[in-house]
Amino acid sequence: MPVKKTQLTRKPTARSKSKKPVQYVYAFGKKTDGGRAMRDLLGGKGANLAEMAAIGLPVPPGFTISTEVCSYFYDNHRRYPASLTTDVEAAIVDVEQQQHKGFGERDNPLLLSVRSGARESMPGMMDTILNLGLNDATVEGLAARSGNPRFAYDCYRRFIQMYGDVVMGIQPANQESHDPFDALMDGLKAELGKTHDTELSADDLKELVKRYKRLIKTRARKEFPQNVYEQLWGSIGAVFGSWKNERAIIYRQRYSIPSEWGTAVNVQAMVFGNLGDDSATGVAFTRDPANGENVIYGEYLVNAQGEDVVAGVRTPKQIAEMASEMPASYKGLQRVRAKLERHFRDMQDFEFTIENHHLFILQTRNGKRTGGAALRIAVEMTEEKLMDQRTALLKIPAESIDSLLVPVFDPRAQKAARLIGQGLPAGPGAASGLIVFTAAAAEQESKRGNRVVLCRMETSPDDLKGMLYSQGILTSRGGVSSHAALVARQLGKVCVCGATNVVIHYEKKTLTAGGVVLKEGDYISLDGSTGEIYAGPIESADSEVKRVLNGTLKPAQSYTYRLFETVMTWADKYRRLVIRTNADTPAMAQQAVAYGAEGIGLCRTEHMFFEGDRIDYMRQMILAADEVQRRVALKMLLPFQKKDFAGLFKAMDGRPVTIRLLDPPLHEFLPHDDGVRRKLAIKLGVSAEFILDRIRALHEENPMLGCRGCRLGILYPEITEMQARAIFEAAAQVMTAKHPVVVKPEIMIPLVGFKAELADQLAIVHRVAREVMERTGVKIDYLVGTMIEVPRAAITADELAEVAEFFSFGTNDLTQTTLGLSRDDMGSFFETYRQKEIYQHNPFASIDEQGVGRLITTAVERGRSTRPRIKLGICGEHAGDPASIQFCHRAGLDYVSCSPPRVPIARLAAAQAALRDA
Ligand code: PEP
Ligand code: MG
Repeated sequence: MPVKKTQLTRKPTARSKSKKPVQYVYAFGKKTDGGRAMRDLLGGKGANLAEMAAIGLPVPPGFTISTEVCSYFYDNHRRYPASLTTDVEAAIVDVEQQQHKGFGERDNPLLLSVRSGARESMPGMMDTILNLGLNDATVEGLAARSGNPRFAYDCYRRFIQMYGDVVMGIQPANQESHDPFDALMDGLKAELGKTHDTELSADDLKELVKRYKRLIKTRARKEFPQNVYEQLWGSIGAVFGSWKNERAIIYRQRYSIPSEWGTAVNVQAMVFGNLGDDSATGVAFTRDPANGENVIYGEYLVNAQGEDVVAGVRTPKQIAEMASEMPASYKGLQRVRAKLERHFRDMQDFEFTIENHHLFILQTRNGKRTGGAALRIAVEMTEEKLMDQRTALLKIPAESIDSLLVPVFDPRAQKAARLIGQGLPAGPGAASGLIVFTAAAAEQESKRGNRVVLCRMETSPDDLKGMLYSQGILTSRGGVSSHAALVARQLGKVCVCGATNVVIHYEKKTLTAGGVVLKEGDYISLDGSTGEIYAGPIESADSEVKRVLNGTLKPAQSYTYRLFETVMTWADKYRRLVIRTNADTPAMAQQAVAYGAEGIGLCRTEHMFFEGDRIDYMRQMILAADEVQRRVALKMLLPFQKKDFAGLFKAMDGRPVTIRLLDPPLHEFLPHDDGVRRKLAIKLGVSAEFILDRIRALHEENPMLGCRGCRLGILYPEITEMQARAIFEAAAQVMTAKHPVVVKPEIMIPLVGFKAELADQLAIVHRVAREVMERTGVKIDYLVGTMIEVPRAAITADELAEVAEFFSFGTNDLTQTTLGLSRDDMGSFFETYRQKEIYQHNPFASIDEQGVGRLITTAVERGRSTRPRIKLGICGEHAGDPASIQFCHRAGLDYVSCSPPRVPIARLAAAQAALRDA
């Protein structure tokens, strides 16, 4: 047993100064040491087991080894603190006394489960061992005592399989191959002509145990351990070790769970759902996790152990059936449901076991739920006075709002499509894509730019990566609470599971359903809200909420919209940050306003030229060899620009509009294709050679750091002049139109590093503003400001603020320039950086607070030191990321500006930031 001899010395804290020995083991049961407030130390599972024991729920006794031991384990070459052995042994004695059984005692054995439990639940990502304490002797004792040898050997074979897999590493060679233990089980069943595990007799299981042990000996070159303490420490080590397995790392990164947190280990007395037909095991949600409805929801299996339900080996029954099958237990479950909700004040996902009619609760946690369910549960629980508005807002993951806005199938296309099967609706939404059968294929196809649907008989947590790459997940086995369904729901992925009429053949790479044989690479479509499966692709359509926002559905016709609107109204009440949007066209602006945008924070003027053949005028302007040619091109561009700005001003109807002057990284705008170049030459009346020469002359090794941003306007002032003219003339026109609109343009200069650059450009803007105002007689209230996109701008923000009336943090470029990391070229090493946990997250998706974040706070401080009321915002992609929004709130920015579809997410995230800060 790898226990270090020396006592752990801790950094001097208040606790260690008292010289009290450090407590690593916390009991729950008759005597309970912990509670729900201690999840950092006991993990979510351990803390809630303690809490449930304390409030009198029927929890089998046990103890939790704290997360501090996990940290110690990793800091000390996988050893444990010296006192742990005695502490664990003492805790076992306590459990023995409560259960009136002995650990390793031949005639009356105490069996244990060993489970992981981190601060945040990570369903299925780490390891679990059940029935620990069985060996060749105790299995006989269990058989004699229970009078049920079949049950005893069923437990024993399960234990050997789990231990062999988790502790001794006997696993399938790859995704396509069978689990070696399952293969032995299937082989035996085939020999005996039996189809179900439940048909195997005690003798059959005895034979299976022999075969399992032989497999272990051959593969691991070691015997399966008979010493129960060796089993226990092996399992504890494996569970701590599973904190760093690949799927746990991927999961942590997906949910920004720090690797320093570690997991706790829970050791608990076993109760048995596989004792016969008056025993069962199951998982239940106190409300429907798919749509949030206030009904108990879940599934159970009679005469089974917990893993059978989640692993999808047998398709479980719906909880509702229990009302007739086991009425007393069902009533007990309803009482537990009410008590859990009243106590934890959130929807709970709990595991239970019924042992000879006695109900036990093995775990509870806040249940994972779809975005729609999150909203419904939060709003309804507030109406039921189980939580207040503030708590409700904090309970809804901001990202989950997205699921209310994502497309659903176009009803007509869906009706016309070929329905080939039906499974359980486990993750709502509409997904259409190419069939892939492995996580690796999902990754590969998705990287080729294809949308994929991952089709598996059942998904294991190893499929997580593949699920992340997929639009949808289809399984032929398993219930709505299988790991696959839980994870898919949480990822916001469309999921149909337990589609028993779908036959998946991994080797042949075929999927057969409804008389149709589909191959890998064929299209399939899933409706995750109904469980329907279709052959071929299906067009998708707007969601209910989106249809209300578009005006194609009446608000009163959609309960989901009412929930959405309620949450948005609450969010607006508590947030401080203003939410703007990045929009370049009136249509985008209108959509953003419907979503609640309060202004435009970034109009990328170069994007206004993507439409039709305007790009050619833009190219003509870029390629111009001299000022005369450039002015000709600019003259063509001016009317387009003016019209577009007028459209934006009208769409925003008096709200502020920030327009950024031209910032085209040249490589994005030059024609690279021979044919395009020839056509352009004809259109512009120049030779193809001229164009090629100009392209060569303009070539840059690093276009992202070349002649872009304000450098372009400084080199060619006529560009800045044309844009300023278009803005002010459009403003004057809209303000004096028949239906006048107030316009407050905010003109923004990109990629500034020096005050002199800004001053140069602002002089042009102010001059043109004066000219237009004098000529039209219209007074236009405008602001001029700068983007902060390079570290020098952040550091010299006090100087920039002398001339800038606002700052907008362009965190895409600020990240690129601060990290010295190309926005376009990080693919080659990013995966390795993530795996090694060098990056906790993608710095272009979520702000690197220690680096880029510090530059932002520096710029805020310095900018305000010169101009106390300077307006501050952010318009990089980070502005739609909830964690970054929280940072922006703390940094004291005035607004965030994100893409239109993320506006509702940003409204909620901003409220959450304010509430967390309060
Ligand atoms: C930025 O750099 O963050 C920004 C908003 O500008 P762009 O993405 O257009 O470079
Ligand atoms: Mg930029």
